[in-house]
Amino acid sequence: MLQDRFDVVVAGGGIAGLAAALAFQRAGASVFVLEQAAAFAPVGAGILLQANGLMVLDALGIGEQVRAHGAIVPRFVLRNSHGRCLLATELDAHLPRQYWPVCIHRAHLHEILWKACLSAHVTVHFGCKVKTIDKKPERSVVFSDTRDGTVPISGHLIVGADGLKSAVREAAEIRAHLWPIVEGSVQGVVPFGVSTAYHGEYVKGSEACGMLPTGPDSTFWFWGASSRTAIAATGEFDSWKAEVCGRFPPMHAILARYNSWTDMARLQHRSVRCDAWSSGNVVLIGDAAHAMSPNLGQGANCALVDALVLVSHVAGTDDGLLGALARFETDRRPLVDDLQQRGHDESASALRHWPGFEAVVIIALRLARFVPPSGQHAEVLAMSGLVGTGFDLAAAGVRGTVPW
Ligand SMILES: Cc1cc2nc3c(=O)[nH]c(=O)nc-3n(C[C@H](O)[C@H](O)[C@H](O)COP(=O)(O)OP(=O)(O)OC[C@H]3O[C@@H](n4cnc5c(N)ncnc54)[C@H](O)[C@@H]3O)c2cc1C
Repeated sequence: MLQDRFDVVVAGGGIAGLAAALAFQRAGASVFVLEQAAAFAPVGAGILLQANGLMVLDALGIGEQVRAHGAIVPRFVLRNSHGRCLLATELDAHLPRQYWPVCIHRAHLHEILWKACLSAHVTVHFGCKVKTIDKKPERSVVFSDTRDGTVPISGHLIVGADGLKSAVREAAEIRAHLWPIVEGSVQGVVPFGVSTAYHGEYVKGSEACGMLPTGPDSTFWFWGASSRTAIAATGEFDSWKAEVCGRFPPMHAILARYNSWTDMARLQHRSVRCDAWSSGNVVLIGDAAHAMSPNLGQGANCALVDALVLVSHVAGTDDGLLGALARFETDRRPLVDDLQQRGHDESASALRHWPGFEAVVIIALRLARFVPPSGQHAEVLAMSGLVGTGFDLAAAGVRGTVPW
């Protein structure tokens, strides 16, 4: 367990920040979350929770709530632009039932984490935009802009969970490389179900789109493209919609509901690689440390695993905080680097110089990995963020015991 009065300041109340806050509080720390937003509000669209993320949610005691609010996805289907199945992967044949992926509205996941933090007495300060950090060996001080001016708050450990454009990363002078711009996407959730015959991902040229259930009466949909094509999605709504429906006829039933960009998330995805994940007693997790391509649906899952791995190292340490932070990175980074690389390999932008062959190459890459039965099993485990063949926290990359 942690020493008496071990104060943790978490910058950012997203998925990584709330999971870390909850885990640290459970491990006996006093946790303060600084979130720039004025209040929690439903944002984003769907998120696919995979085995590694689900194991962490189970360890935090909220796995069943999450499953109840989402939809289980037992198979994944890659389709052509008209919906014809190119490749079906039976996830249920390779994973125990409790680790079949769950597709959930990001807002529901966020709300479940947020309520669990409240029950655990985590202190959350809204309207606090972290600006600078005064790094000190014992307690660093975080300065945030608030309505009442600049407010300092100090902690033995500062966790930067403030996403892609992390202010903590900059304040701690951790050098990061945007490696490179990967994709842009448009996503939403519609309040109706679609037949399972349409579930899956559709590919054509440098674009992909897809739909998955988030419940019996709701469907998460997405459209994504290499950065060049994605610029189209910043323009006029009607022409974007007509082009997407023209290229992907099954999307018509979904996009017919929309008349403007309202009620959808438009995201620019970038990969982030940092020279280090910590500097002194400041550590980065989630997108702040390693934002990745959305292709594998591992961003939120990796953020959840980071949180538990970090807490298990810090709470289990007997050689000081800095040693624990170094081990956190040494243990965790190879797995994250591997997932980041896989997502990058599959991204359309990696192939953007040969637009005519993109779909063919993407499909060939996937077929080569999935078609042999042993390859399929290994690939499902890798996509699920698991190492080795086990189905436990160690397989998800969590070393040591859960500290509560
Ligand atoms: C608005 C939004 C919508 C998203 N929607 C989707 C989606 O629909 N599907 C999907 O797959 N992924 C989505 N993502 C990305 C996905 O949630 C992340 O990749 C993943 O969960 C990692 O989360 P994170 O907590 O590391 O970062 P984030 O989810 O980016 O959370 C970072 C948090 O830090 C806060 N913050 C940022 N800067 C500061 C600062 N200076 N001071 C204080 N707080 C700060 C942000 O307000 C945010 O709450 C979305 C992200 C965001 C921010």
